[in-house]
Amino acid sequence: MDIEEFRCRGKEMVDYICSYLSNVDQKRVTPKVEPGYLRNLLPEEAPQDPEDWENIMRDVDDKIMPGITHWQHRRFHAYFPSGNSFPSILADMLSDAIGCIGFSWAASPSCTELETIVVDWLAKAIGLPKHFITSHQESAGGGVIQGSASECILVSMLAARNRAINYLKKFNPNTEDSAFLPKLVGYCSKEAHSCVEKAAKILLVNLRILDPDEHCALRGEKLRKAMEEDENDGLLPFFVSTTLGTTSSCSFDNLLEIGPLCREKSCTWLHVDGAYGGNALILPELKYLLKGMEYADSFNINANKWLLVNFDCSCLWVKSRKQLTHALVVDPLYLQHANAEETIDYRHWGIPLSRRFRALKLWFVIRKYGLTGLQSYIRNHIRLAKYFESLVLKDNRFEVVNNVKLGLVCFRIRASDTVNQNLLAIINASGKLHMIPSMVKGKYIIRFCVTNEHAKVEDIDQAWSIIEKHASRLIDMKDI
Ligand code: PLP
Repeated sequence: MDIEEFRCRGKEMVDYICSYLSNVDQKRVTPKVEPGYLRNLLPEEAPQDPEDWENIMRDVDDKIMPGITHWQHRRFHAYFPSGNSFPSILADMLSDAIGCIGFSWAASPSCTELETIVVDWLAKAIGLPKHFITSHQESAGGGVIQGSASECILVSMLAARNRAINYLKKFNPNTEDSAFLPKLVGYCSKEAHSCVEKAAKILLVNLRILDPDEHCALRGEKLRKAMEEDENDGLLPFFVSTTLGTTSSCSFDNLLEIGPLCREKSCTWLHVDGAYGGNALILPELKYLLKGMEYADSFNINANKWLLVNFDCSCLWVKSRKQLTHALVVDPLYLQHANAEETIDYRHWGIPLSRRFRALKLWFVIRKYGLTGLQSYIRNHIRLAKYFESLVLKDNRFEVVNNVKLGLVCFRIRASDTVNQNLLAIINASGKLHMIPSMVKGKYIIRFCVTNEHAKVEDIDQAWSIIEKHASRLIDMKDI
């Protein structure tokens, strides 16, 4: 493809995207295909010779699109939102065209510097403590963009592990690092995302998964008891992962109780996972949820969930950049450069060496919407979730099982788990609406998350009427 063909195909692709996004609501939300469907439609071997563009695009329509789950569909209410906006898509196009690999300042200075600036913008918009802001004079910390919340949590746990090993080494200088691993214990709630467990698995450390309270929040007393038990057994509590906006029920751990407890200990790193909920902290009326953040050693949000930025864009802030980079620095000659002393090399802040120019899309989105535009977008989702909650509450065949603070409502029919499983299965099979289940307080629940950028009251009405219609049929059939 030469540049003239690209110019032409690029314009066609923008048209294709516009018609896809304009018409996506006419399609089923979830595809009706069987596992392996694509293997029967595509050749066994890669083509030897170049193919025509038209043929490729025809196959997109005929073979790829039928297997797509449409996350941008108005009736998509599963998971959390997958950020998507035109400024972000355009910025990603530009980032792809620039094609730089910003592992160090020298590898592309604007890639590094823009990342520092936009992540600082966000930290200030959220109201994070000053020690998280790279440019603040008194700060020894800063922010970085990672590929996912899972990576943010993994590198935070890694930094905490490194710090804890160094602490234990002071008393046992001749012991091998790996010999300390069985002594290290981390904590999270049952409501924490499974990526915390995965991080502990990768890092070969113990993790205690604690029961939350009746509001699905991890509380100080529960944690204190677990830590003391472990200390009595000779273990070192080295890491606590808390969540602002859990995946199952959008609950909030109690940072004001947990924070001081971590601080009391000799070496306990407090991480706050705000993959979804953290984005909402740009709203002035939700700043109260930040209480206790001053105790955190690290905090992450996924701008690619709820700030209209396309995947991937997870922002991680750490209180001490040295503690993070100590765990990760490897410095071969071919990656060194003359300005390393006074610049940031983000390759030391994460696992991969190569890094995309992700800051560009965050910058485009913040500028094109402004903070007020992003605030209105999140506020609208919260308002619509409250509206959905009110519809559920009006029908006494149903119950709402979470405290609806943000855009997620967890509900169920007042019947057995099996009835609720059947309801969800029937709705999802209809292709008209997509939701996913979870377990909250020991019960099978259905999660309804507001996800569409332009969601309106009518969308919620339509979604509820689909749910209500299927529930009525099921209830009639089962006579419950
Ligand atoms: N933490 C929370 C609270 C989440 O909801 C999720 C995913 O939904 C994650 C972590 C994992 O996010 P990622 O897919 O970016 O690793």
